[in-house]
Amino acid sequence: MDRILFVGFFIASTCSASPPNFVLLFADDLGFGDLGAYGHPSSLTPNLDRLAAGGLRFTDFYCTSPVCSPSRASLLTGRYQTRSGIYPGVFFPGSIGGLPLNETTIAEVLKPLGYATAAVGKWHLGLGPNGMYLPTNQGFDQFLGIPYSHDMGPCHNLTCFPPDVKCFGTCDVNSVFVPVMRNERIIQQPANFLNLEQAYSNFATDFITASAKMKRPFFLYYPSHHTHYPQYAGPGAAGKSLRGPFGDALLELDNAIGELMTTLEKTGVINNTLVFFTSDNGPSLMRMSHGGNAGPLRCGKGTTYEGGMREPAIAFWPGTISPGVTHELASTLDILPTIARLAEAKLPQVMLDGVDMTEILVNRTKSQRETMMFYPSSSNEKYGLFALRLGKYKAHFYTEGSGLSGTTPDQDCSVFAGFKAHDPPLIFDLEADPSEHYPLSLEGKPDLQALLERIKKVKEQFEASMVFGESQMLKGKDPILEPCCNPDCSPKPGCCRC
Ligand code: MG
Repeated sequence: MDRILFVGFFIASTCSASPPNFVLLFADDLGFGDLGAYGHPSSLTPNLDRLAAGGLRFTDFYCTSPVCSPSRASLLTGRYQTRSGIYPGVFFPGSIGGLPLNETTIAEVLKPLGYATAAVGKWHLGLGPNGMYLPTNQGFDQFLGIPYSHDMGPCHNLTCFPPDVKCFGTCDVNSVFVPVMRNERIIQQPANFLNLEQAYSNFATDFITASAKMKRPFFLYYPSHHTHYPQYAGPGAAGKSLRGPFGDALLELDNAIGELMTTLEKTGVINNTLVFFTSDNGPSLMRMSHGGNAGPLRCGKGTTYEGGMREPAIAFWPGTISPGVTHELASTLDILPTIARLAEAKLPQVMLDGVDMTEILVNRTKSQRETMMFYPSSSNEKYGLFALRLGKYKAHFYTEGSGLSGTTPDQDCSVFAGFKAHDPPLIFDLEADPSEHYPLSLEGKPDLQALLERIKKVKEQFEASMVFGESQMLKGKDPILEPCCNPDCSPKPGCCRC
């Protein structure tokens, strides 16, 4: 029996015994270089490092956007965000649009098979009129969390620890206080950030324990606010890292993951659960030491350089995934098809951009993925792709810096590096030069000329297949849609507190 057939048989037989559970952990604005397991010298991430040591660690794993909302849309649908209309930019508290309800999320893929599903943490795929875009309308039985980023509210409420230390920087002072929601209901406004992660952790524990007790397969989606700016941490982590507020926030996330792993062990489901960890986009370098770190990669959040979109990723499943490191190309897009395969669920009947990566996880075979497409946060149909990776080569057709990546000495990262077209594109060999420092010179090199022709062809073919969905962001905002626990109060937004 050849190896691939054998894996197919193994997975099928595992599934028929008891469908596997899935825990999808999603960090926020965490860079390629932020975890101990990825070489950071002072981060304290013992639990994530343990997952990396006992699981499969990816070196060439990509999210699909250098900002939050589009990246999350792709993760949950297995499709580039342009198809679902999640561009340009991100959702805000009063946004009218959201992830269209006719898109199929991972939760909706699993529901018909009887999975219990829950989302805990940061949603950021819309709220809309009457909360129509909340997780409970997108396949999740339960939701506890904040419907958008936690800097989208008055900053003075984003308390650091100790509580008398004010956060620095700017937040959206003209918005309502940041709410915590349970399903469609606001249960706290403003959010108490000092016990938020613990509340999430308790929710996760209860959900896993209840599902295990009922012998029901489950899918837990846990997109934490950590380590998005402004940083915060409760008493279990505040002041306890070596890396200041960012390190404390990361340590708090790591502690929560440790608790979750303990719950999986205690409930006896750990050997039947795939735990997958990654992040939505690269580090917010504008926050300097209060933002993340892209390690050796160029620039960060808001850019289509490697630092904006290549992410740490770890797959952990004792007995099924053997420990190691893979250099295969993979993406958040691939998580939906992989989960569908492992659960023996039907794939949505739409144009998917993800490919099944089960064979990489279980058997370390070659990736089915040969390309990765890079759309900017300001995506539009006129320019389309900014960059494309084909095998080990990446071609930048357009580049643009970002305010979110300012403060680095590299001038191409900052907001002052305006939109630039490159013809021929800048081509980098990411194996020899992962930092994108040295564009290849094509002159007098027929093999590279041939590569360029191939890249252009792949781009043309892909773009011919891309149908941009109606932009959900361009539907605009209406202050009346901002969540308020006390809807008839006045004057808004300041009176929205309960
Ligand atoms: Mg983010």
